[in-house]
Amino acid sequence: MASVRNSKQPLSLVSGCAGFVGSHLVDRLIQKGHNIIGIDNLSTGSCENLCHALEQPELFRFIQGDLSDTTVIPDQDYDFIWHIASPASPPDYQRLSIDTMLINSMGTKNMLDMAKKKGSRFLLTSTSEVYGDPSMHPQKESYWGNVNPVGERACYDESKRFAEALTMEYHRKYAVETRIVRIFNTYGPRMRPNDGRVITNFIVQALEEKPLTIYGDGTQTRSFQYIDDLIDGLLLVMESDYAHPINLGNPEEYSMLELARIVLELTGSSSHLSFLPLPSDDPKQRKPDITLAKQLLSWEPKVTLRQGLMNILTTFQALKEI
Ligand code: NAD
Ligand code: UDP
Repeated sequence: MASVRNSKQPLSLVSGCAGFVGSHLVDRLIQKGHNIIGIDNLSTGSCENLCHALEQPELFRFIQGDLSDTTVIPDQDYDFIWHIASPASPPDYQRLSIDTMLINSMGTKNMLDMAKKKGSRFLLTSTSEVYGDPSMHPQKESYWGNVNPVGERACYDESKRFAEALTMEYHRKYAVETRIVRIFNTYGPRMRPNDGRVITNFIVQALEEKPLTIYGDGTQTRSFQYIDDLIDGLLLVMESDYAHPINLGNPEEYSMLELARIVLELTGSSSHLSFLPLPSDDPKQRKPDITLAKQLLSWEPKVTLRQGLMNILTTFQALKEI
């Protein structure tokens, strides 16, 4: 493969580039003038998310391939390696359970090996799910979590915990410059309307005047971060010199009942609520403590839930009209 490298600009490798987070990151890196190689197997992502990037072949090259295969990763002098690939929505990672464990284990190893070989700085997108069903609230990075190692979410949360441990070992043993971000629930345009996460489900159901599906009694809480705030944070973490995990999330906390009411209000929908069983091991509460990110990066989220929901709502309404 020919190099996309322009010698004056940094070269980034982005795994999971066709997904929700990866594609927004690619757009931002293009704005910053990076040369980018993006790899994705399109298991949960789509080339439609890359249509802006693909219009700039001098900066961005897409490779369709699976990261558990080392030969897929071009041998180039990467400055930055962003390891984003992994299913993230609970229905996705449960459907793709073994693949999820392999991308977070073998895939992470393959990306770390490339970082070690090339002296690249490496960033892992981990997750708030490493805290499991937390007994500490809000969750600080120093909390070790409460995870069921054999439950239905284990394919995701345990494999992300493994990915974090492997990343720290490459840092300790081989002095790879590594970064770990624990991302809390993030939403925004380019999420698949049918990806099964609560925000997409509620918006689609409200727009279609169908009942909003509340799992359990709806008192469980989550804290929702808008995608632009996350991308700002990822760039700052990569630029920092901090190798231990950093939480990135929006500490505004809502119960699922409150979220449903806000979605109904913003859409003007007259949908009712329908109560369904709570999935097993569903965390009862989740809220990031972002003191570390504020201190280290001077970062904090800017977009409120209502503003962010209006943005995603507009894109979903446009999709409906097509
Ligand atoms: P997504 O499903 O939209 O994107 C993941 C991308 O990775 C997809 O394009 C998929 O096709 C690709 N992929 C999966 N397995 C692959 C493999 N073996 N080889 C190559 N490509 C592969 O998910 P997302 O919401 O964009 O999440 C991205 C990252 O952020 C994940 O690592 C996830 O764990 C993390 N994260 C996301 C959230 C969130 O709320 N979105 C929260 C916590 C953590
Ligand atoms: N949830 C819900 N209705 C839905 C989808 C999800 O009540 O249609 C709940 C789910 O049980 C969880 C919360 O909303 O308590 C957030 O779920 P999501 O899948 O978005 O993310 P999670 O934090 O579980 O990874």
